[in-house]
Amino acid sequence: MKILLWDIDGTLIRSGRAGHRAMNAAAQAVFGLEEAFANFDFGGRTDPWVLDLLCQRYGLEAPPARLDAFYAVYLEHLRRELHNPLAHTCPGIRELLSAFHTTPEVTQGLLTGNIVAGARVKLEHFDLWHYFAFGAFADDAGERNRLGPIALERARAHLRLFGLQPSDLIIIGDTPHDIACARAAGAHAVATATGGFTHDELAMHRPDLLVRDFTDPEPLREYIQGLN
Ligand SMILES: [Mg+2]
Repeated sequence: MKILLWDIDGTLIRSGRAGHRAMNAAAQAVFGLEEAFANFDFGGRTDPWVLDLLCQRYGLEAPPARLDAFYAVYLEHLRRELHNPLAHTCPGIRELLSAFHTTPEVTQGLLTGNIVAGARVKLEHFDLWHYFAFGAFADDAGERNRLGPIALERARAHLRLFGLQPSDLIIIGDTPHDIACARAAGAHAVATATGGFTHDELAMHRPDLLVRDFTDPEPLREYIQGLN
């Protein structure tokens, strides 16, 4: 059994900056900041990490109640903002998820810097949420590199396959942070140039497989077969 662990933003979907606008709206509602996330690089970062950076930048205190309020406003705006003409699923993704969904030797989960509620809003918008039986989310750990072992535990529990090993995990993402996360977990790293990084930029971080996008599903399929 191989476990595909998908990143969301830039890998499965592009939100047309819906997440960015929803974060700005939340920062305005809760902290009174205008365009708090202008010039902010979200790529590969977890939501709590982004909030930590915001608090550092503006010298803010963020007790749990304020964070809850922040995320409530964020989710409400995210739902609305996803209805924009630039939001789309990345090339080939819908077909690939559907194909692996019925492949017996592959199980698909999420490994994402989104909080679980945000991940669900984004993926339900595109009718992709139902492909994922489990995941590791930013609620589990603010540091992305800690999410691999959590995803492995969830995969073991979900499948009742307690012998699953880190080498059974394939972490798929669009940033060097995703590649580093795979390395930290002892998992395989697959990178796609459908997000904020070019093919050449990702190549410098030496993922095990690098694709421009998933229009052609064969490179990923062959890579997985080669692991067995
Ligand atoms: Mg991403």
